Amino acid sequence: MNQFIEKNKKAIYIFIAFLFILNFFAWQEVFVLSERSESKDLSVSFLNVGQGDSTFIVTPQNHQILIDGGPDSTVVGKIAKQIPFWDRSIDLAILSHPEKDHMSGLIEILKRYKVDYILWSGVKMNSSEYLEWLKVLVAQKNKRAKIITAFAGQNIKVGDLKIKILSPSENLFAQDFSKSANETSVVAKLNYGKNSFLFVGDIDSVEEKKLVEKSQLANSHELVNLKSDVLKVAHHGSKYSSSDIFLKEVNPKFAVIEVGKNSYGHPTQETLSRLQNIGAKIFRTDQSGDIFFQSNGQNLFMLK
Ligand SMILES: [Zn+2]
Repeated sequence: MNQFIEKNKKAIYIFIAFLFILNFFAWQEVFVLSERSESKDLSVSFLNVGQGDSTFIVTPQNHQILIDGGPDSTVVGKIAKQIPFWDRSIDLAILSHPEKDHMSGLIEILKRYKVDYILWSGVKMNSSEYLEWLKVLVAQKNKRAKIITAFAGQNIKVGDLKIKILSPSENLFAQDFSKSANETSVVAKLNYGKNSFLFVGDIDSVEEKKLVEKSQLANSHELVNLKSDVLKVAHHGSKYSSSDIFLKEVNPKFAVIEVGKNSYGHPTQETLSRLQNIGAKIFRTDQSGDIFFQSNGQNLFMLK
């Protein structure tokens, strides 16, 4: 036991520091990013970062939001093309779940940029990347980042745009999901005027079913409307996600699959067929490269 503690002393210390710094924000339900007066179109870029997820959003008021960072530092060069070189800060970073293909690139971003708000589920995992993640969180906290535990019901107001957190359904802070964190993925819906985007991380059909049930039961306290123009397809097109009932409820015009070379067979034919059956236009980062959308709140455009 003593040997275990000795060997893992650093990891335990980092984890305790992280528990301490995070608790303060665990209960906050709504937060508002700083007010600004500019107004232009919303842009949402699904970045081609290989086998992994990364989406960069620039809002009408020029807030920069990054959801996941992909498996390596590829994202750093991609972001640099969209942010002026003198701008060293990002307003909000969301980590869907602490698996390498979503987290490693985000760690690289957190090492290079100051981030005002960091939103994630707070689940515990057992990996070297995870420890690295905690370290960058502590460093960001020291630069006054607000680190928030994500769970359903939270609303983020970003100028004219709203982000609603739909999942995880409860606060999973510090719970161990070392076997697989996919089910803990933060699901976020972004609304801008008449246009909407749904980001679902790597959830599987079990989580999808819970979301569908919630949306069908929706009451005034927890209105969950899954219907979205653009769906970031779950888990790189895995056949265990994108169930018929879920796709029917979301009914996306565009389905974006963030995927690269992999040995899992992503995206699977089953998922591609289910997306075709609901009439979604399918785009894949491994075939199209970066995929850009723009919205003025009324109309949605895909840029080529
Ligand atoms: Zn993944």
